[in-house]
Amino acid sequence: MKSPKTVRRIIETLATQHPNADTELVYRNAFELLAATILSAQSTDVRVNMVTPGLFKRYPDARALAKATPTEIEPQIVSTGFFRQKSKALIGMAQQLVTEHGGKVPADMDLLTKLPGVGRKTANVVLGHALGVPGLPVDRHVLRVSNRIGIAEGDDPEKVEAQLTVALPKEKWTLASDVLILHGRRICKPKPLCDQCAVRDDCDYYRLVVARGPEKVLAAGTKRRGRGGSPRRRPGATGRGAEEHGAKAADPPGAKHDARKVRAPRR
Ligand code: SF4
Repeated sequence: MKSPKTVRRIIETLATQHPNADTELVYRNAFELLAATILSAQSTDVRVNMVTPGLFKRYPDARALAKATPTEIEPQIVSTGFFRQKSKALIGMAQQLVTEHGGKVPADMDLLTKLPGVGRKTANVVLGHALGVPGLPVDRHVLRVSNRIGIAEGDDPEKVEAQLTVALPKEKWTLASDVLILHGRRICKPKPLCDQCAVRDDCDYYRLVVARGPEKVLAAGTKRRGRGGSPRRRPGATGRGAEEHGAKAADPPGAKHDARKVRAPRR
């Protein structure tokens, strides 16, 4: 893995390539961002932004949403997918905010992750963007891009979060997540657009896989196995498969963290 100094430089470079990086969910306060992030599981920000104006008009705060029934909510959020689980999570989240937090969203990771439908990633999104508490949400884009570049290693979101937060100052945590997510959506897609990438010279995946070409990668893998050792994983690959749905990742409804895996593109 790269040194903290290099990690900081890479994040700064990506921030230059993706200026004004921020969550693409539209919200006016922490409650709205929390609800929108729950809805974004297995969906896209664009899709969520289409349903939330109507939802928040009808249920402007936790107290209003806590009184709703799944039958009332489901038709409004059906286009985001998993609408039954999400409606239960939204109502349960709102009820718990009312009964335990006076209707307010707590600025605390432990309290947030006790809410229905809220995992560590969702909590970090809300903490970092709406509550002024440093947080580094790790979604499938952050996993893929950070592993490929070589600024983190592994497919466990909590471990990757720990590696990145150790390397970066707190005030950069949320920005780092935002730029890695945008880079994963726009440039470092499952099939990466390396010729458009600002950090190509620092990227392990580019150096070891893309620049070598498929034949050399295959030959290198054969040679490594021939020495009796386990084949070295390519940066960005877990070898355990992955879900790539073309949708923005968020905690699956009811999940406590996002366990989706990183996968290198097939070449
Ligand atoms: S060089 Fe390619 S693989 Fe590496 S971060 Fe950039 S787009 Fe992704």
